[in-house]
Amino acid sequence: MKQVEILLPAAAPHGFDYRVPENMILTAGDIVTVPFGHSESLGVVWGAGKVDIPPGKIKSVRKRHEFPPLSPAMRQFIDWVAWYNCAPKGAVLKMALPISDIDKEPRKKKEAPPEKLPARHFNLAELSDAQKKATVILEDKIGKEFSVTLLDGVTGSGKTEVYFDAIAKALANESQILVLLPEIALSVQWLERFERRFGFTPAVWHSEITPVKKREAWKAIARGEAKVVVGARSALFLPYRNLALMIVDEEHDQSYKQEDGTIYHARDMTVARGMFEKLPIILVSATPSLESYHNAKTGKYAEVSLPARHGGAVMPDVEMIDMRQSPVSANTFISPILRTALAETIAQGHQAMLFLNRRGYAPLMLCRRCAHRFECPQCSSWMVMHKKRGQNSGLRIQEEKDLFSPKPESRIPNSYLACHYCNYRMPEPRICPACGAKDQFAACGPGVERVSEEVATFLPKARVAVMASDSMDGIKDMKNIISSMAERRIDLLIGTQMIAKGHHFAGLSVVGVVDADLGLSGGDPRAAERTYQLLHQLSGRAGREQVKGTVYLQSFMPEHPVMQALLSGDRETFLQAELQARRNADMPPFSRLASIIVEGATEADVIKTAKTLASSSIHHPASNISLLGPSPAPIYRLRGKYRYRLLARAGRSVNLPDFMRALIDMVKPPKSVRMKIDIDPVRFL
Ligand code: ADP
Ligand code: ZN
Repeated sequence: MKQVEILLPAAAPHGFDYRVPENMILTAGDIVTVPFGHSESLGVVWGAGKVDIPPGKIKSVRKRHEFPPLSPAMRQFIDWVAWYNCAPKGAVLKMALPISDIDKEPRKKKEAPPEKLPARHFNLAELSDAQKKATVILEDKIGKEFSVTLLDGVTGSGKTEVYFDAIAKALANESQILVLLPEIALSVQWLERFERRFGFTPAVWHSEITPVKKREAWKAIARGEAKVVVGARSALFLPYRNLALMIVDEEHDQSYKQEDGTIYHARDMTVARGMFEKLPIILVSATPSLESYHNAKTGKYAEVSLPARHGGAVMPDVEMIDMRQSPVSANTFISPILRTALAETIAQGHQAMLFLNRRGYAPLMLCRRCAHRFECPQCSSWMVMHKKRGQNSGLRIQEEKDLFSPKPESRIPNSYLACHYCNYRMPEPRICPACGAKDQFAACGPGVERVSEEVATFLPKARVAVMASDSMDGIKDMKNIISSMAERRIDLLIGTQMIAKGHHFAGLSVVGVVDADLGLSGGDPRAAERTYQLLHQLSGRAGREQVKGTVYLQSFMPEHPVMQALLSGDRETFLQAELQARRNADMPPFSRLASIIVEGATEADVIKTAKTLASSSIHHPASNISLLGPSPAPIYRLRGKYRYRLLARAGRSVNLPDFMRALIDMVKPPKSVRMKIDIDPVRFL
């Protein structure tokens, strides 16, 4: 090739043509450096050049890097991801090639490969019959063509144990395996377990690893040296050299949906990659997404189930606390029944968890005189009160004494208000800006900080820790809390959804849900499914070994189908009812959805653009598509921008991405307005 199209990892929809120097031979997929603007950039040869550029004008490729080229399947996958999600191709490449200094070597001499850990891993777990059966089915997929298998087993049934066997089989063929986890918090225990079983440490990939580690991991992945990679959703786009198996653990988890920048669903993209690369995919969950559940029931996916907990551990009891019958006193949130249960289990030497999916101290501040509320100046959201300053002042767990809750009064001077959407902060005000009253503010409702304050009043001696994204000082703090909990140096762990997933704490007996109804408000069509998944996963942390678990749900609507399903443990009935409701409402998985979000600083321009979009579609030939809206987004202002939403719904067979692109191409909005497409939206904020 004399002239090549080079795709750059930048937000461009296509590549740019470059000349190939005389002494260079390039093939599609090669990683190169090219001049770009006043600087240079990495890029990938996407094919032959096609544009007629005068010889004096075209720039030349500077360098070809000694890395395995991106395979045809990988390039097709990138093209497809860009097409499906209506994203610029270059932005997708940026996720495959997220580093720039590709030739740089670590400053330290390359260390000798770490010594293999002692051969403890030869003590393989003796699998139960159900586990063995599952293993045989999964192992049989390895090395064969594309397939998707849903590994559906109750919490604590040994799903991890079972897919480790599939990994072992794939490893024997010297190939690469990717395991996606929804939350970095989960990787701590997962890695320990992996190391015990396999005797080596996998490569780790997520947004918080250092640039040097990222570069080294990328190189090892691209060269095929990293055999097992465990990572967050972004790991799915890396250029594995000989990938053989991809596993999506906790496949139902919403954090697989990336919502800023390039919008995509990592679980769905993993399945797509499996198709291009002709690999088996394993989706793992105790609470499968309705989509995967439906695909398994209709035979599109294979299904493997593990119906019972390992080793005779039983599922926890679920106790409903009807908050209408057992009211709490003013400004407290934990009912007497739950207080007693916590106190008793801790007195017996067991551990407990309290779950509330709300960061900070109180979700709202209200003036007692005039009812003024503090709203974020940039967003349509109430300012959340926090009692601790800044990002980095959570309950640090360094020494034993630090495990105790600090005295509440020691934290009060640091109070501030924060917007949880844009992170705008202000010191806690004393004078009401509306009526001038002094010190008349009331904190309304609880956040995890307030719960921990309340706990200190009735469990003054308990060792308590709080786990929420802003109460910890990064991953180290989080690892500390998790290992302290695992080693029983914490009696009570209070936290947001970070504590709900995947963890295995042998001594955990009581789980209390402070506000089980929290996720059910609002008009989100997936609210019930999501609340069920979250609370069921949370329950699944309790009683995983010898101690019996009990889960307490504090609810004002115990008759709600979600609460009833949690109470009865009858998951099938709940999922079937949800599926039926989706079918009746013609919602996914029985239809497809795509959102357009119109955003801009000038309200009138946003409204006008949204209306133009809505009316232009009427003339679109695709009849099988209905367009709903425009309507103001639930978060009407975000970071100073006004927001409108439109929602397209179509039959399963409709080419929705092309329709969405055609739709926004028909509209020429003012410069200040942006239109974002979200294919298969899961949140509707
Ligand atoms: P899941 O992933 O389904 O929640 P895990 O794989 O974490 O379940 O298993 C729960 C616990 O039971 C873990 O501590 C695991 O080590 C243990 N376990 C599961 N299967 C076996 C087995 N066959 N032999 C010994 N321990 C097992
Ligand atoms: Zn804000």
